[in-house]
Amino acid sequence: MAAFFQRLAKAAPAGFTAGAGNSMSGFRFPIGALAAVSGGISYIYYHSSPNSVCLDEIKEQSGPKVALNPDKWTEFKLQDTARVSHNTQLFRFTFDPTAKLGLDVASCLITRAPIGQDAEGKPKFVTRPYTPISDPDSKGYFDLLIKVYPEGKMSQHFASLKPGDVLEVKGPIEKLKYTPNMKKHIGMIAGGSGITPMLQVIEAILKNPDDTTKVSLLYANVSPDDILLKQKLDLLAAGYPNLKVYYTVDNPTNSWKGGKGYISKEMAVKGLPGPTEDTLILVCGPPGMMGHISGGKAKDWTQGELSGILKELGYTEKMVYKF
Ligand SMILES: Cc1cc2nc3c(=O)[nH]c(=O)nc-3n(C[C@H](O)[C@H](O)[C@H](O)COP(=O)(O)OP(=O)(O)OC[C@H]3O[C@@H](n4cnc5c(N)ncnc54)[C@H](O)[C@@H]3O)c2cc1C
Repeated sequence: MAAFFQRLAKAAPAGFTAGAGNSMSGFRFPIGALAAVSGGISYIYYHSSPNSVCLDEIKEQSGPKVALNPDKWTEFKLQDTARVSHNTQLFRFTFDPTAKLGLDVASCLITRAPIGQDAEGKPKFVTRPYTPISDPDSKGYFDLLIKVYPEGKMSQHFASLKPGDVLEVKGPIEKLKYTPNMKKHIGMIAGGSGITPMLQVIEAILKNPDDTTKVSLLYANVSPDDILLKQKLDLLAAGYPNLKVYYTVDNPTNSWKGGKGYISKEMAVKGLPGPTEDTLILVCGPPGMMGHISGGKAKDWTQGELSGILKELGYTEKMVYKF
């Protein structure tokens, strides 16, 4: 898997179709203007009349250029794909190579695709959220890790995309506002493609030398072959003592050395920080797993009541976040 990432990381963003945010509105372009740029500030020297010379200071927009727009569907071009497991693929989309995606950890984005038509023959859109796993500070691209379901409307659309095709995206949608050292120890329980928001948080912590948060991840999958980005997670855990990863699978092979079966109370007690003010447990996985671990989210997508293993072990709603 490291090779996939290396290949994708080396690939230069190929052109762009998106780019919001660096609007030039506010600039006044007088006739005969001469522009100079210095230290992030642009100046335009111009003659407003034959007798007076004005120096007009124009500050560039305050933040960095961002590609995402929360109010407008923006097209991003697919640059490359890589197979990660028998049913999961990595997709790299590109945009203005001088811009960032414009997303805080932990956030997702919304995608849409025209799938089918309504009675009047107009395209019907399917929309689904996804969680980029590339560094939010990366310029010119973002990566999505997507599990492709045989009957899945949007994931099948992803599977049909070819390099050069575009995807419509809106966002970001902020889920959990992560701030460095907000907790001493973060526990994570992920199932299958539920690893994506965890990776966002893990990488934000590990790339910041001032962030001393400990992270303990319990990652459940059907079989060893289904474990997504295992090589990457193992490399991170080997390089950063504050990250611990424990895998469990429903269908172990003879040589499997990790946990067996669903995440149990024993695994949670051994592998997660205990229920204290200094801990936070993040949970993301398929509905059955959420029910077993923490209870699902409410119908209106708020956090809903805490139940399941975490409740039984004494965690409170304040200590748990369901993605
Ligand atoms: C905040 C958020 C972030 C997400 N981030 C990611 C991400 O980074 N990567 C990713 O792959 N997905 C992610 N998802 C899930 C994603 O939004 C879609 O729900 C998923 O891709 C299925 O959509 P679909 O249109 O392909 O399937 P649908 O057409 O919605 O479903 C068709 C069939 O697929 C199967 N199916 C769909 N979803 C599941 C499931 N969760 N578990 C078991 N079977 C299922 C069922 O058989 C279902 O009947 C995220 C979801 C949320 C809420």
